[in-house]
Amino acid sequence: MKIKVDRKVCAGHALCAAKAPDVYTLDDDGYCNSDGMTVPPGKEEQAIFGAAYCPERAIVLFDAAGKEIR
Ligand code: SF4
Repeated sequence: MKIKVDRKVCAGHALCAAKAPDVYTLDDDGYCNSDGMTVPPGKEEQAIFGAAYCPERAIVLFDAAGKEIR
C-alpha cells in the first residue's frame, strides 16, 4: 500500500500521525511528510484509520496495483 499526501491541502492538524503513529510522520512544522512512502507490512488498517481522520482529506492510499483504495 502506498501513501499520497497532497502537501498543498495538508493543514498540519497532525491527526494522521496521532491516530496512526506507525504509518504517518510529521515534519518539523507539523505537516505530514509521508507522501510517497510505503505502508509498513501489517499496518494497512492503521493507514486507513489515520487517513480517515484527516479533516482536509489530504491522504490518498493506493494498493499494490496502483488502484486508489481511499
Ligand atoms: S491529518 Fe491531514 S491535514 Fe493533518 S497533518 Fe495529517 S495529512 Fe495533514
